[in-house]
Amino acid sequence: MISSDNQTTVSFYTLGCRLNQSETASIEQSFAKDGFRIVDFKQPADVVIINTCTVTENGDADTRRLVNKVNRINPAARIALIGCQAQVQKSKLTELPNVAWVVGNQRKMDIAEIVAQLPQPAEPTVIAPTITRDPFTIPTASIDSRHTRANIKIQDGCDFFCSFCEIPYARGRARSRVFDDILTEARALTAAGHQELVITGINVGTYQYQGYGFMDVIDALEQIDELKRIRISSIEPTTIPFALFERMSKTSKLCRHLHIPLQSGDDAVLAAMKRKYTTREFLDFIQHVEDTVDEVCIGTDVIVGFPGESETQFQATEDFLREAPVDYFHVFSYSRRYLAKSQDMAGEQTPPIIQERSRRLRELGQRKRRMFHESLVATDQLVLFEQLKNGRLTGITDNYVRVAVDETEALCNHFRAVNLQSIEGDVIFGKIK
Ligand code: SF4
Repeated sequence: MISSDNQTTVSFYTLGCRLNQSETASIEQSFAKDGFRIVDFKQPADVVIINTCTVTENGDADTRRLVNKVNRINPAARIALIGCQAQVQKSKLTELPNVAWVVGNQRKMDIAEIVAQLPQPAEPTVIAPTITRDPFTIPTASIDSRHTRANIKIQDGCDFFCSFCEIPYARGRARSRVFDDILTEARALTAAGHQELVITGINVGTYQYQGYGFMDVIDALEQIDELKRIRISSIEPTTIPFALFERMSKTSKLCRHLHIPLQSGDDAVLAAMKRKYTTREFLDFIQHVEDTVDEVCIGTDVIVGFPGESETQFQATEDFLREAPVDYFHVFSYSRRYLAKSQDMAGEQTPPIIQERSRRLRELGQRKRRMFHESLVATDQLVLFEQLKNGRLTGITDNYVRVAVDETEALCNHFRAVNLQSIEGDVIFGKIK
């Protein structure tokens, strides 16, 4: 379908992580630049781009579900499946109805050009070459007018090969973005009004480009006047320079928020996962962060039901998370991945056991988050407001707390000091000072 203004229409759907969201935002800009008209995913479109995820079986199943949905509501659309699942399961994806392009991670940022050059392929076009290790640039900024925060990708891929993880295959080996290219995008994003940038990548702490490391990226971003906040999306525990939280404790644009994946609170499970630290090392590290950075928010990821995880080992994880200074956690059920080493390990847990362990950790996670929120009641925090809905304005603090105030003035994308007063579910209610 060509729109009334004769432009080819294109819509987008992103599955998976923040990095995928960041990439979709840049890809949207490249389609707009090439003369396509962007429409909402629910509207009819000539081309539908689905940025896929393969981190769990659910991520894989979501692609199939979405393709079926597109075919139901938008049967004339040609579908492009791009990204991680396209990289590792290309043949399987070409069998889905109306899929015209399957493009893996090496070429997915060129999808606008690919669609323009080959708009009506007779057969599904598969472009999923091996991913190179070269440093990369991104020609379009991930400007996202629907959100106040914008993501900025600085790195891709991973060399760690944790045994449960397919990422080194789906996203390739670790590589870094050209240093100046990061700054060019950061300036474009702040010029477009984004005052908070979230540094994204697969293993951002391993950033290395011509002698520049992760702290150099932070230093350079701090110099951009219009940029008020720098948040780090997730960082591997063994890659965090101590200078990072020394910096957080002083006047800095760095948010007092670290998301550091733990994955298990049992040393034998960590070793089987091929993680690079013991529980003691992890604990000493986050305790140091907690002692150094006032009101810091520490989040983590944890996997339940890893092959061979006994009840005692799970209990060790639960105990660890209860006692450690961790303020929230994301709980993932173990999911066997085709290319990951753990797929051949014995001792797979049954779904009821995995569900029960997830439930226990989720409940604990809610209690820990509430404890963190309680510790902040009666304090003043600077909030970047994001949304005004039904007379209620909501936004986020640098230490990752969602705050609501009764306010009718449109203060979206403005900072205000708020006195935090009471907890309402996952939100702290407060009053603008
Ligand atoms: S650090 Fe481990 S879990 Fe994270 S992307 Fe690399 S291999 Fe996967």
